[in-house]
Amino acid sequence: MAESNFDVIVVGGGPGGYVAAIRGAQLGLKVALVEEKHLGGICLNWGCIPTKALLRTSEIYHAMLHAADYGLSAEKVAFDLAAVVKRSRAVSKQLNRGVAHLLKKNKVTVFDGRGRLNGPGKIEVTKDGKAIAGLSAKHIILATGARARTLPGLEPDGKFVWTYMEALVPDVMPKSLLVVGSGAIGIEFASFFHTLGAEVTVVEVLSRILPVEDEEIAQHARKRFEKQGMTIMSGAKVTGLKTGKAGVTATIEDDKGKVSTLTVERVISAVGVVGNVEDLGLETTKAKTDRGAIVTDALSWTGEPGLYAIGDVAGPPMLAHKAEHEGVVCIETIAGLENIHPIDNLMIPGCTYCHPQIASVGLTEAKAKAAGHQVKTGRFPFMGNGKAIALGEPEGLVKTVFDAKTGQLLGAHMVGAEVTELIQGFVVAMNLETTEEDLMHTVFPHPTLSEMMHESVLDAYGRAIHI
Ligand SMILES: Cc1cc2nc3c(=O)[nH]c(=O)nc-3n(C[C@H](O)[C@H](O)[C@H](O)COP(=O)(O)OP(=O)(O)OC[C@H]3O[C@@H](n4cnc5c(N)ncnc54)[C@H](O)[C@@H]3O)c2cc1C
Repeated sequence: MAESNFDVIVVGGGPGGYVAAIRGAQLGLKVALVEEKHLGGICLNWGCIPTKALLRTSEIYHAMLHAADYGLSAEKVAFDLAAVVKRSRAVSKQLNRGVAHLLKKNKVTVFDGRGRLNGPGKIEVTKDGKAIAGLSAKHIILATGARARTLPGLEPDGKFVWTYMEALVPDVMPKSLLVVGSGAIGIEFASFFHTLGAEVTVVEVLSRILPVEDEEIAQHARKRFEKQGMTIMSGAKVTGLKTGKAGVTATIEDDKGKVSTLTVERVISAVGVVGNVEDLGLETTKAKTDRGAIVTDALSWTGEPGLYAIGDVAGPPMLAHKAEHEGVVCIETIAGLENIHPIDNLMIPGCTYCHPQIASVGLTEAKAKAAGHQVKTGRFPFMGNGKAIALGEPEGLVKTVFDAKTGQLLGAHMVGAEVTELIQGFVVAMNLETTEEDLMHTVFPHPTLSEMMHESVLDAYGRAIHI
Protein backbone atom coordinates (compact mmCIF):
# COMPACT_ATOMS: atom_id res chain seq x y z
CA MET A 1 0.00 0.00 0.00
CA ALA A 2 1.42 3.39 -1.03
CA GLU A 3 2.22 5.56 1.98
CA SER A 4 3.17 9.16 1.36
CA ASN A 5 3.56 12.47 3.00
CA PHE A 6 2.46 15.69 1.31
CA ASP A 7 2.12 19.38 2.17
CA VAL A 8 -1.52 19.35 1.08
CA ILE A 9 -4.01 16.64 0.18
CA VAL A 10 -7.02 17.68 -1.89
CA VAL A 11 -9.99 15.30 -1.84
CA GLY A 12 -12.08 15.73 -5.00
CA GLY A 13 -10.87 16.64 -8.49
CA GLY A 14 -13.63 19.01 -9.64
CA PRO A 15 -13.02 22.69 -10.49
CA GLY A 16 -12.53 23.49 -6.80
CA GLY A 17 -10.10 20.65 -6.12
CA TYR A 18 -8.01 20.51 -9.28
CA VAL A 19 -7.57 24.30 -9.44
CA ALA A 20 -6.49 24.38 -5.76
CA ALA A 21 -4.04 21.52 -6.44
CA ILE A 22 -2.46 23.25 -9.45
CA ARG A 23 -2.19 26.59 -7.64
CA GLY A 24 -0.61 24.80 -4.66
CA ALA A 25 1.96 23.17 -6.94
CA GLN A 26 2.70 26.56 -8.54
CA LEU A 27 3.42 27.86 -5.04
CA GLY A 28 5.94 25.07 -4.46
CA LEU A 29 3.77 22.82 -2.30
CA LYS A 30 3.88 19.03 -2.59
CA VAL A 31 0.27 18.26 -3.45
CA ALA A 32 -1.77 15.04 -3.67
CA LEU A 33 -5.19 14.95 -5.28
CA VAL A 34 -7.63 12.11 -4.61
CA GLU A 35 -10.46 11.64 -7.11
CA GLU A 36 -12.82 8.68 -7.11
CA LYS A 37 -14.61 9.07 -10.45
CA HIS A 38 -13.62 11.68 -12.97
CA LEU A 39 -11.11 14.53 -13.03
CA GLY A 40 -12.95 17.77 -13.70
CA GLY A 41 -15.79 16.78 -11.36
CA ILE A 42 -19.45 17.40 -12.10
CA CYS A 43 -18.57 20.59 -13.96
CA LEU A 44 -16.60 19.06 -16.81
CA ASN A 45 -18.27 15.65 -16.84
CA TRP A 46 -21.94 16.07 -15.84
CA GLY A 47 -22.59 19.78 -15.43
CA CYS A 48 -21.44 23.06 -16.93
CA ILE A 49 -19.63 21.74 -19.98
CA PRO A 50 -21.81 18.93 -21.37
CA THR A 51 -24.95 21.05 -20.90
CA LYS A 52 -23.35 23.85 -22.88
CA ALA A 53 -22.42 21.39 -25.62
CA LEU A 54 -26.08 20.27 -25.81
CA LEU A 55 -27.32 23.86 -25.75
CA ARG A 56 -24.97 24.73 -28.60
CA THR A 57 -26.67 22.02 -30.66
CA SER A 58 -30.13 23.36 -29.85
CA GLU A 59 -28.97 26.90 -30.66
CA ILE A 60 -27.74 25.84 -34.11
CA TYR A 61 -30.88 23.77 -34.69
CA HIS A 62 -33.02 26.79 -33.84
CA ALA A 63 -31.00 28.97 -36.23
CA MET A 64 -31.38 26.35 -39.00
CA LEU A 65 -35.13 26.23 -38.49
CA HIS A 66 -35.14 30.01 -38.93
CA ALA A 67 -32.66 30.03 -41.81
CA ALA A 68 -35.11 31.85 -44.08
CA ASP A 69 -34.99 34.88 -41.75
CA TYR A 70 -31.35 35.28 -42.82
CA GLY A 71 -31.90 34.70 -46.53
CA LEU A 72 -30.78 31.09 -46.29
CA SER A 73 -32.53 27.86 -46.98
CA ALA A 74 -32.12 24.71 -44.94
CA GLU A 75 -34.36 21.83 -45.86
CA LYS A 76 -35.19 18.71 -43.92
CA VAL A 77 -33.60 20.10 -40.78
CA ALA A 78 -33.34 17.20 -38.36
CA PHE A 79 -31.21 15.88 -35.54
CA ASP A 80 -29.75 12.55 -34.53
CA LEU A 81 -30.09 12.41 -30.74
CA ALA A 82 -27.38 9.79 -30.31
CA ALA A 83 -24.95 11.97 -32.29
CA VAL A 84 -25.93 15.06 -30.28
CA VAL A 85 -25.20 13.21 -27.03
CA LYS A 86 -22.00 11.71 -28.46
CA ARG A 87 -20.67 15.18 -29.24
CA SER A 88 -21.48 16.41 -25.74
CA ARG A 89 -19.73 13.42 -24.17
CA ALA A 90 -16.70 13.90 -26.44
CA VAL A 91 -16.40 17.53 -25.33
CA SER A 92 -16.42 16.41 -21.70
CA LYS A 93 -13.88 13.67 -22.37
CA GLN A 94 -11.52 16.11 -24.09
CA LEU A 95 -11.59 18.49 -21.14
CA ASN A 96 -11.30 15.66 -18.61
CA ARG A 97 -8.08 14.59 -20.37
CA GLY A 98 -6.95 18.22 -20.34
CA VAL A 99 -7.25 18.33 -16.54
CA ALA A 100 -5.20 15.10 -16.22
CA HIS A 101 -2.54 16.70 -18.40
CA LEU A 102 -2.46 19.93 -16.38
CA LEU A 103 -2.14 18.03 -13.09
CA LYS A 104 0.73 15.95 -14.50
CA LYS A 105 2.45 19.02 -15.91
CA ASN A 106 2.26 20.67 -12.48
CA LYS A 107 3.53 17.51 -10.76
CA VAL A 108 0.44 16.97 -8.66
CA THR A 109 0.29 13.33 -7.52
CA VAL A 110 -3.15 11.98 -8.43
CA PHE A 111 -4.69 9.04 -6.56
CA ASP A 112 -7.53 7.23 -8.31
CA GLY A 113 -9.79 6.27 -5.42
CA ARG A 114 -12.04 7.47 -2.66
CA GLY A 115 -10.57 9.65 0.09
CA ARG A 116 -11.65 9.57 3.72
CA LEU A 117 -10.24 11.25 6.82
CA ASN A 118 -8.43 8.72 8.94
CA GLY A 119 -7.31 10.77 11.92
CA PRO A 120 -5.74 14.26 12.08
CA GLY A 121 -3.83 15.05 8.87
CA LYS A 122 -4.48 11.60 7.43
CA ILE A 123 -6.44 10.39 4.42
CA GLU A 124 -7.08 6.78 3.57
CA VAL A 125 -7.62 6.10 -0.13
CA THR A 126 -9.75 3.14 -1.11
CA LYS A 127 -10.57 1.66 -4.49
CA ASP A 128 -13.38 -0.88 -4.88
CA GLY A 129 -13.58 -1.12 -1.10
CA LYS A 130 -9.86 -1.92 -0.69
CA ALA A 131 -7.38 0.46 0.95
CA ILE A 132 -4.77 1.42 -1.65
CA ALA A 133 -2.93 4.31 0.02
CA GLY A 134 -2.45 6.02 3.35
CA LEU A 135 -1.61 9.71 2.91
CA SER A 136 -0.64 12.34 5.42
CA ALA A 137 -0.34 16.13 5.20
CA LYS A 138 -0.44 19.19 7.40
CA HIS A 139 -3.33 20.52 5.35
CA ILE A 140 -6.33 18.73 3.86
CA ILE A 141 -8.84 20.38 1.53
CA LEU A 142 -12.21 18.71 1.05
CA ALA A 143 -13.62 19.48 -2.40
CA THR A 144 -16.08 16.63 -2.76
CA GLY A 145 -18.80 18.60 -4.55
CA ALA A 146 -22.52 17.95 -4.61
CA ARG A 147 -25.15 15.69 -6.15
CA ALA A 148 -28.78 16.10 -7.20
CA ARG A 149 -31.19 16.74 -4.35
CA THR A 150 -34.18 14.41 -4.28
CA LEU A 151 -37.56 15.15 -2.75
CA PRO A 152 -39.75 12.50 -1.12
CA GLY A 153 -42.34 11.24 -3.60
CA LEU A 154 -40.33 12.58 -6.54
CA GLU A 155 -37.43 10.14 -6.42
CA PRO A 156 -35.70 9.74 -9.79
CA ASP A 157 -35.79 6.19 -11.18
CA GLY A 158 -33.20 6.89 -13.87
CA LYS A 159 -35.58 5.78 -16.65
CA PHE A 160 -38.70 7.93 -16.60
CA VAL A 161 -37.79 10.37 -13.85
CA TRP A 162 -34.37 11.80 -14.58
CA THR A 163 -31.80 13.82 -12.69
CA TYR A 164 -29.35 15.93 -14.67
CA MET A 165 -27.24 12.79 -15.13
CA GLU A 166 -29.84 10.96 -17.25
CA ALA A 167 -31.03 14.20 -18.88
CA LEU A 168 -27.51 14.69 -20.25
CA VAL A 169 -27.54 11.32 -22.00
CA PRO A 170 -31.19 10.89 -23.05
CA ASP A 171 -31.97 7.62 -24.80
CA VAL A 172 -35.10 9.13 -26.33
CA MET A 173 -36.32 12.60 -27.22
CA PRO A 174 -39.43 12.81 -25.03
CA LYS A 175 -42.52 14.14 -26.77
CA SER A 176 -43.57 15.63 -23.45
CA LEU A 177 -41.41 16.63 -20.51
CA LEU A 178 -42.06 17.96 -17.03
CA VAL A 179 -39.22 19.89 -15.40
CA VAL A 180 -39.58 20.24 -11.65
CA GLY A 181 -37.73 23.36 -10.52
CA SER A 182 -36.91 26.56 -12.41
CA GLY A 183 -33.37 27.30 -11.26
CA ALA A 184 -30.53 27.46 -13.77
CA ILE A 185 -30.26 23.67 -14.22
CA GLY A 186 -34.01 23.14 -14.74
CA ILE A 187 -34.37 26.05 -17.14
CA GLU A 188 -31.34 25.04 -19.23
CA PHE A 189 -32.75 21.53 -19.74
CA ALA A 190 -36.24 22.94 -20.39
CA SER A 191 -34.74 25.19 -23.06
CA PHE A 192 -32.71 22.39 -24.69
CA PHE A 193 -35.54 19.85 -24.89
CA HIS A 194 -38.12 22.45 -25.88
CA THR A 195 -35.97 23.74 -28.74
CA LEU A 196 -35.55 20.18 -30.03
CA GLY A 197 -39.32 19.75 -30.08
CA ALA A 198 -40.45 18.41 -26.70
CA GLU A 199 -43.61 19.81 -25.18
CA VAL A 200 -42.19 21.21 -21.95
CA THR A 201 -43.93 22.15 -18.70
CA VAL A 202 -41.92 23.75 -15.90
CA VAL A 203 -43.35 23.67 -12.38
CA GLU A 204 -41.86 26.01 -9.78
CA VAL A 205 -42.98 26.14 -6.16
CA LEU A 206 -42.09 29.82 -5.75
CA SER A 207 -44.22 32.54 -7.26
CA ARG A 208 -41.75 33.16 -10.08
CA ILE A 209 -39.12 31.36 -12.13
CA LEU A 210 -35.34 31.85 -11.80
CA PRO A 211 -35.75 32.82 -8.14
CA VAL A 212 -32.28 34.29 -7.65
CA GLU A 213 -32.54 36.65 -10.60
CA ASP A 214 -33.90 40.20 -10.64
CA GLU A 215 -37.68 39.96 -10.88
CA GLU A 216 -37.95 42.08 -14.02
CA ILE A 217 -35.37 39.96 -15.82
CA ALA A 218 -37.05 36.72 -14.73
CA GLN A 219 -40.40 38.10 -15.94
CA HIS A 220 -38.91 38.99 -19.30
CA ALA A 221 -37.40 35.51 -19.64
CA ARG A 222 -40.69 33.88 -18.66
CA LYS A 223 -42.60 35.80 -21.32
CA ARG A 224 -40.07 34.69 -23.93
CA PHE A 225 -40.28 31.03 -22.85
CA GLU A 226 -44.06 31.16 -22.93
CA LYS A 227 -44.02 32.82 -26.35
CA GLN A 228 -41.83 29.96 -27.55
CA GLY A 229 -44.54 27.55 -26.37
CA MET A 230 -43.27 26.38 -22.98
CA THR A 231 -45.84 26.00 -20.20
CA ILE A 232 -44.77 27.49 -16.90
CA MET A 233 -46.62 26.91 -13.65
CA SER A 234 -45.24 28.99 -10.78
CA GLY A 235 -46.61 28.97 -7.25
CA ALA A 236 -47.28 25.26 -7.77
CA LYS A 237 -45.70 22.11 -6.49
CA VAL A 238 -45.42 18.58 -7.75
CA THR A 239 -46.62 16.44 -4.86
CA GLY A 240 -46.31 13.01 -6.40
CA LEU A 241 -45.21 11.07 -9.48
CA LYS A 242 -46.72 7.80 -10.66
CA THR A 243 -45.24 5.83 -13.49
CA GLY A 244 -47.63 3.80 -15.63
CA LYS A 245 -48.05 2.61 -19.21
CA ALA A 246 -48.98 6.08 -20.45
CA GLY A 247 -45.87 7.66 -18.91
CA VAL A 248 -45.44 9.51 -15.66
CA THR A 249 -48.45 11.17 -14.09
CA ALA A 250 -47.57 14.11 -11.88
CA THR A 251 -49.90 15.46 -9.24
CA ILE A 252 -49.58 19.24 -9.09
CA GLU A 253 -50.99 21.45 -6.37
CA ASP A 254 -51.19 25.21 -6.87
CA ASP A 255 -50.86 27.81 -4.11
CA LYS A 256 -54.64 27.93 -3.68
CA GLY A 257 -54.75 24.20 -3.01
CA LYS A 258 -56.18 23.29 -6.43
CA VAL A 259 -54.93 19.89 -7.54
CA SER A 260 -54.40 18.84 -11.17
CA THR A 261 -52.57 16.04 -12.96
CA LEU A 262 -50.24 16.02 -15.93
CA THR A 263 -49.03 12.95 -17.79
CA VAL A 264 -45.69 13.19 -19.58
CA GLU A 265 -43.16 10.84 -21.14
CA ARG A 266 -40.30 11.98 -18.93
CA VAL A 267 -39.68 14.11 -15.84
CA ILE A 268 -36.51 15.95 -14.91
CA SER A 269 -36.14 16.60 -11.20
CA ALA A 270 -34.12 19.81 -10.89
CA VAL A 271 -34.80 20.79 -7.30
CA GLY A 272 -31.26 21.72 -6.38
CA VAL A 273 -28.11 19.99 -5.25
CA VAL A 274 -26.82 18.85 -1.89
CA GLY A 275 -23.21 18.60 -0.74
CA ASN A 276 -21.32 15.29 -0.59
CA VAL A 277 -20.63 15.45 3.14
CA GLU A 278 -21.22 11.80 3.94
CA ASP A 279 -18.60 9.19 4.74
CA LEU A 280 -15.69 11.63 4.82
CA GLY A 281 -14.83 10.92 8.45
CA LEU A 282 -16.01 14.40 9.51
CA GLU A 283 -17.45 12.99 12.74
CA THR A 284 -13.90 12.60 14.10
CA THR A 285 -13.24 16.33 13.60
CA LYS A 286 -14.52 19.69 14.82
CA ALA A 287 -16.02 20.40 11.38
CA LYS A 288 -19.76 20.96 11.31
CA THR A 289 -22.33 20.56 8.58
CA ASP A 290 -25.44 22.61 7.97
CA ARG A 291 -28.16 21.74 5.43
CA GLY A 292 -25.89 19.41 3.47
CA ALA A 293 -22.80 21.63 3.40
CA ILE A 294 -19.61 21.85 5.46
CA VAL A 295 -19.53 25.06 7.49
CA THR A 296 -16.42 27.18 6.86
CA ASP A 297 -15.13 30.66 7.56
CA ALA A 298 -14.38 33.20 4.81
CA LEU A 299 -11.04 31.48 4.10
CA SER A 300 -12.57 27.97 3.88
CA TRP A 301 -11.35 26.76 7.28
CA THR A 302 -13.67 24.23 8.95
CA GLY A 303 -12.64 24.85 12.56
CA GLU A 304 -10.56 21.66 12.67
CA PRO A 305 -6.81 22.44 12.56
CA GLY A 306 -5.52 21.94 8.99
CA LEU A 307 -8.92 21.00 7.52
CA TYR A 308 -10.61 23.12 4.84
CA ALA A 309 -13.63 22.77 2.54
CA ILE A 310 -14.22 24.48 -0.79
CA GLY A 311 -16.68 24.51 -3.68
CA ASP A 312 -20.15 22.98 -3.67
CA VAL A 313 -19.50 20.94 -0.52
CA ALA A 314 -18.90 24.22 1.32
CA GLY A 315 -22.33 25.58 0.33
CA PRO A 316 -23.85 28.10 -2.06
CA PRO A 317 -23.57 29.61 -4.54
CA MET A 318 -23.02 26.19 -6.13
CA LEU A 319 -21.09 27.44 -9.14
CA ALA A 320 -17.90 26.23 -10.76
CA HIS A 321 -16.21 29.64 -10.80
CA LYS A 322 -16.96 30.07 -7.09
CA ALA A 323 -15.40 26.64 -6.43
CA GLU A 324 -12.29 27.52 -8.46
CA HIS A 325 -11.78 30.88 -6.83
CA GLU A 326 -12.38 29.49 -3.37
CA GLY A 327 -9.75 26.84 -4.11
CA VAL A 328 -7.20 29.49 -5.03
CA VAL A 329 -7.93 31.64 -1.97
CA CYS A 330 -7.76 28.57 0.30
CA ILE A 331 -4.44 27.22 -0.99
CA GLU A 332 -2.85 30.68 -1.07
CA THR A 333 -3.85 31.06 2.58
CA ILE A 334 -2.28 27.67 3.34
CA ALA A 335 0.89 28.71 1.50
CA GLY A 336 1.08 31.81 3.69
CA LEU A 337 0.63 34.41 0.94
CA GLU A 338 -0.12 37.94 2.05
CA ASN A 339 -2.98 40.17 0.88
CA ILE A 340 -5.47 37.36 0.53
CA HIS A 341 -8.90 38.55 -0.57
CA PRO A 342 -11.71 36.36 0.73
CA ILE A 343 -14.48 35.94 -1.85
CA ASP A 344 -17.30 38.44 -1.72
CA ASN A 345 -20.35 36.41 -2.79
CA LEU A 346 -21.94 39.56 -4.19
CA MET A 347 -19.21 39.74 -6.82
CA ILE A 348 -19.85 36.22 -8.09
CA PRO A 349 -21.70 36.35 -11.41
CA GLY A 350 -24.44 33.86 -12.26
CA CYS A 351 -25.27 32.71 -15.77
CA THR A 352 -28.04 30.59 -17.27
CA TYR A 353 -27.36 29.45 -20.82
CA CYS A 354 -30.94 28.97 -21.99
CA HIS A 355 -32.48 30.77 -24.95
CA PRO A 356 -32.58 33.70 -24.18
CA GLN A 357 -29.55 33.70 -21.92
CA ILE A 358 -29.59 35.28 -18.47
CA ALA A 359 -26.64 36.76 -16.57
CA SER A 360 -26.28 38.82 -13.45
CA VAL A 361 -23.96 40.09 -10.75
CA GLY A 362 -24.50 41.95 -7.49
CA LEU A 363 -27.74 43.06 -5.90
CA THR A 364 -31.11 42.82 -7.61
CA GLU A 365 -33.21 45.97 -7.43
CA ALA A 366 -35.35 44.42 -4.65
CA LYS A 367 -32.31 43.30 -2.65
CA ALA A 368 -30.62 46.69 -3.03
CA LYS A 369 -33.75 48.36 -1.64
CA ALA A 370 -34.02 45.81 1.15
CA ALA A 371 -30.39 46.52 2.05
CA GLY A 372 -31.34 50.15 2.61
CA HIS A 373 -29.99 51.67 -0.60
CA GLN A 374 -31.80 54.45 -2.33
CA VAL A 375 -31.50 53.13 -5.87
CA LYS A 376 -31.31 54.47 -9.37
CA THR A 377 -31.98 51.95 -12.12
CA GLY A 378 -31.19 52.05 -15.81
CA ARG A 379 -32.61 49.87 -18.58
CA PHE A 380 -31.79 49.35 -22.20
CA PRO A 381 -33.73 47.05 -24.54
CA PHE A 382 -32.01 44.93 -27.21
CA MET A 383 -34.41 46.52 -29.72
CA GLY A 384 -32.39 49.75 -29.54
CA ASN A 385 -29.05 48.12 -30.34
CA GLY A 386 -27.75 47.88 -33.91
CA LYS A 387 -25.76 44.68 -33.38
CA ALA A 388 -28.74 42.93 -31.75
CA ILE A 389 -30.90 43.80 -34.77
CA ALA A 390 -28.19 42.68 -37.18
CA LEU A 391 -27.90 39.38 -35.32
CA GLY A 392 -31.66 38.88 -35.50
CA GLU A 393 -31.84 38.99 -31.68
CA PRO A 394 -33.96 42.07 -30.98
CA GLU A 395 -35.44 40.87 -27.69
CA GLY A 396 -33.72 41.30 -24.36
CA LEU A 397 -32.91 43.77 -21.64
CA VAL A 398 -29.90 45.14 -19.78
CA LYS A 399 -30.65 46.57 -16.35
CA THR A 400 -28.27 48.33 -13.99
CA VAL A 401 -28.78 49.19 -10.33
CA PHE A 402 -26.89 52.09 -8.71
CA ASP A 403 -26.74 53.60 -5.27
CA ALA A 404 -28.47 56.94 -5.87
CA LYS A 405 -26.30 58.75 -3.31
CA THR A 406 -22.82 57.51 -4.24
CA GLY A 407 -23.29 56.38 -7.83
CA GLN A 408 -21.76 52.99 -6.96
CA LEU A 409 -22.78 50.17 -9.30
CA LEU A 410 -24.65 47.72 -7.05
CA GLY A 411 -25.82 45.19 -9.59
CA ALA A 412 -26.30 44.37 -13.25
CA HIS A 413 -28.88 42.03 -14.75
CA MET A 414 -29.33 40.94 -18.33
CA VAL A 415 -31.48 38.74 -20.50
CA GLY A 416 -30.89 38.18 -24.21
CA ALA A 417 -28.35 36.93 -26.73
CA GLU A 418 -24.76 36.44 -25.51
CA VAL A 419 -25.30 38.11 -22.15
CA THR A 420 -23.31 35.35 -20.45
CA GLU A 421 -20.27 36.68 -22.32
CA LEU A 422 -21.11 40.32 -21.54
CA ILE A 423 -21.61 40.14 -17.79
CA GLN A 424 -17.90 40.00 -17.00
CA GLY A 425 -17.61 43.67 -18.01
CA PHE A 426 -19.87 44.59 -15.12
CA VAL A 427 -18.13 42.10 -12.79
CA VAL A 428 -14.80 43.86 -13.38
CA ALA A 429 -16.49 47.24 -12.94
CA MET A 430 -18.01 46.18 -9.62
CA ASN A 431 -14.73 44.75 -8.35
CA LEU A 432 -13.10 48.09 -9.10
CA GLU A 433 -15.92 49.80 -7.17
CA THR A 434 -16.84 51.69 -10.29
CA THR A 435 -19.32 54.54 -10.20
CA GLU A 436 -21.72 55.68 -12.90
CA GLU A 437 -19.26 58.39 -13.90
CA ASP A 438 -16.43 55.93 -14.70
CA LEU A 439 -18.82 53.82 -16.75
CA MET A 440 -20.23 56.80 -18.62
CA HIS A 441 -16.68 57.90 -19.53
CA THR A 442 -15.81 54.46 -20.87
CA VAL A 443 -15.79 53.96 -24.65
CA PHE A 444 -17.64 50.85 -25.82
CA PRO A 445 -16.91 49.43 -29.29
CA HIS A 446 -19.51 49.78 -32.04
CA PRO A 447 -21.37 47.82 -33.17
CA THR A 448 -21.47 45.45 -30.22
CA LEU A 449 -24.03 44.17 -27.78
CA SER A 450 -21.84 45.71 -25.07
CA GLU A 451 -23.06 49.16 -26.10
CA MET A 452 -26.28 48.25 -24.29
CA MET A 453 -24.31 48.07 -21.04
CA HIS A 454 -23.22 51.65 -21.60
CA GLU A 455 -26.72 52.76 -22.57
CA SER A 456 -28.22 51.10 -19.50
CA VAL A 457 -25.86 53.14 -17.31
CA LEU A 458 -26.68 56.31 -19.26
CA ASP A 459 -30.38 55.56 -18.85
CA ALA A 460 -30.05 55.41 -15.07
CA TYR A 461 -28.97 59.06 -15.28
CA GLY A 462 -31.46 60.15 -17.95
CA ARG A 463 -28.84 60.25 -20.70
CA ALA A 464 -29.52 57.20 -22.90
CA ILE A 465 -29.10 58.08 -26.57
CA HIS A 466 -30.83 55.28 -28.46
CA ILE A 467 -34.16 55.08 -26.66
C1 LIG B 1 -26.42 20.10 -15.01
C2 LIG B 1 -25.52 21.10 -14.34
C3 LIG B 1 -25.13 22.23 -15.01
C4 LIG B 1 -24.29 23.16 -14.38
N1 LIG B 1 -23.93 24.27 -15.07
C5 LIG B 1 -23.12 25.17 -14.48
C6 LIG B 1 -22.70 26.32 -15.17
O1 LIG B 1 -23.06 26.55 -16.33
N2 LIG B 1 -21.86 27.19 -14.53
C7 LIG B 1 -21.46 26.97 -13.25
O2 LIG B 1 -20.70 27.79 -12.71
N3 LIG B 1 -21.84 25.88 -12.56
C8 LIG B 1 -22.65 24.98 -13.15
N4 LIG B 1 -23.01 23.86 -12.46
C9 LIG B 1 -22.50 23.68 -11.09
C10 LIG B 1 -21.05 23.16 -11.12
O3 LIG B 1 -20.99 21.96 -11.83
C11 LIG B 1 -20.55 22.99 -9.71
O4 LIG B 1 -20.72 24.18 -8.99
C12 LIG B 1 -19.07 22.62 -9.69
O5 LIG B 1 -18.85 21.42 -10.37
C13 LIG B 1 -18.58 22.51 -8.25
O6 LIG B 1 -17.24 22.16 -8.24
P1 LIG B 1 -16.62 21.32 -7.03
O7 LIG B 1 -15.18 21.18 -7.35
O8 LIG B 1 -17.01 21.93 -5.76
O9 LIG B 1 -17.35 19.92 -7.07
P2 LIG B 1 -17.56 18.82 -8.20
O10 LIG B 1 -17.43 19.37 -9.56
O11 LIG B 1 -18.84 18.15 -7.85
O12 LIG B 1 -16.36 17.83 -7.98
C14 LIG B 1 -16.24 17.06 -6.84
C15 LIG B 1 -15.41 15.84 -7.16
O13 LIG B 1 -15.12 15.16 -5.97
C16 LIG B 1 -15.17 13.76 -6.19
N5 LIG B 1 -15.40 13.13 -4.90
C17 LIG B 1 -16.48 13.23 -4.08
N6 LIG B 1 -16.26 12.58 -2.93
C18 LIG B 1 -15.00 12.07 -3.01
C19 LIG B 1 -14.19 11.33 -2.13
N7 LIG B 1 -14.60 10.99 -0.90
N8 LIG B 1 -12.96 10.95 -2.54
C20 LIG B 1 -12.50 11.31 -3.78
N9 LIG B 1 -13.23 12.01 -4.65
C21 LIG B 1 -14.46 12.40 -4.26
C22 LIG B 1 -16.33 13.61 -7.17
O14 LIG B 1 -16.19 12.40 -7.90
C23 LIG B 1 -16.14 14.84 -8.06
O15 LIG B 1 -15.35 14.56 -9.18
C24 LIG B 1 -23.84 22.92 -13.07
C25 LIG B 1 -24.22 21.75 -12.40
C26 LIG B 1 -25.04 20.86 -13.02
C27 LIG B 1 -25.42 19.61 -12.28
